[in-house]
Amino acid sequence: MKVPIADLRAQSLALKGEIEAGISKVLESGSYIDGENVERLESEIASLCGVKYGIGVASGTDALVLALKACGIQPGDEVITTPFTFGATTEAIALVGAVPVYVDIDPCTFNLDVSRIEAAVTPRTRALLPVDLFGQMADRKVMQQLAQKHSLRIIVDAAQAIGAMQNGLHVAEMADATTLSFYPTKNLGACGDAGMVLTNNPDIAAKLHSLHIHGQSSYGYFEHIGYCSRLDTMQAVILLAKLPHLQKWNETRRKYAARYNELLQNSGAILPGAETGNYHIYHQYTIRHPERTLLQQFLKNAEIDSKVFYPLPMHLQPAYAYLGYRQGDFPLAERAAQEVLSLPIVPELSMEQIEYVAHCILQYALQQQEVYAVSTACTPAV
Ligand SMILES: *Cc1c(COP(=O)(O)O)cnc(C)c1O
Repeated sequence: MKVPIADLRAQSLALKGEIEAGISKVLESGSYIDGENVERLESEIASLCGVKYGIGVASGTDALVLALKACGIQPGDEVITTPFTFGATTEAIALVGAVPVYVDIDPCTFNLDVSRIEAAVTPRTRALLPVDLFGQMADRKVMQQLAQKHSLRIIVDAAQAIGAMQNGLHVAEMADATTLSFYPTKNLGACGDAGMVLTNNPDIAAKLHSLHIHGQSSYGYFEHIGYCSRLDTMQAVILLAKLPHLQKWNETRRKYAARYNELLQNSGAILPGAETGNYHIYHQYTIRHPERTLLQQFLKNAEIDSKVFYPLPMHLQPAYAYLGYRQGDFPLAERAAQEVLSLPIVPELSMEQIEYVAHCILQYALQQQEVYAVSTACTPAV
């Protein structure tokens, strides 16, 4: 049975009629930049994520850069973040001239270990930039306490966490700015690039609005050195067609995660942990396995796609060698990079496909004729 890691075509085709009707309307309107579709998307996503303002931008990476700028992060400022994430998080900090300062991760959730943050705060620290990795929110309460104590901004990279919640809190509450990506493979994906910044702060919202249209305050008046970074109207139409299905899709991912949790109990894999109170939306279902590469090949032979998110932590990447970190600085992130494997979990798959993946992983364990100790430290709650 073939099991792809993503099936973007199936998702688009399921909504083809609606998407085509929307695009055709925009084509005929002659109005291709901004407009009511973008505005409606901004307000619907802001309210879904628990805040007042949404500013559509060209990508999740731009969202991070603009959020940092709008929060007043300057060259030389230190921003505390995670080394275990997609490259855009660190890249955005570097692009505004700030200095990424890493803190090791919680090996159970893969998110920043909040208990290690305070030791990394210096007089130059200006912001915390946690990532809600794989669809689970990093601890907002601790983050907010630290931010208050040390006068820091909180900017959250929620590219993988649209629709996630924590103890009743929506993903964009309790932060100065939260960024989303609508890259096609995200839980809510466009058919191209798009992103958004969310905030409850009217001043930050006004600055974001200006920055994303060349720093203009009104037409022809350039108050800041800004960017050309708009959310494309055609993409807004596609996202509006998909948005009503997001909750159902997230629920399906959670159902599949729960099934994996059941079936993979004694498989030799360490299952992803969910913190109590977290509504995890499983952008990825990421196991750890001591023989990750062998397992991945075994799955490939069974026509199952899997992916390594992420193979090398940011502090060991050539582009960021100038930061001066070394192998061994963040052992938990380094170990995760060696052991993680993300399994297929997109809602376009069937339960049979999910069960087949689990079956093959169990088969691999049998074949190895070796019993690995299964960590029970992480409670795989769904
Ligand atoms: C996808 C992603 C981004 C970047 O989003 P783009 O829209 O591709 O620019 C940033 N951070 C994380 C954690 C992501 O997963």
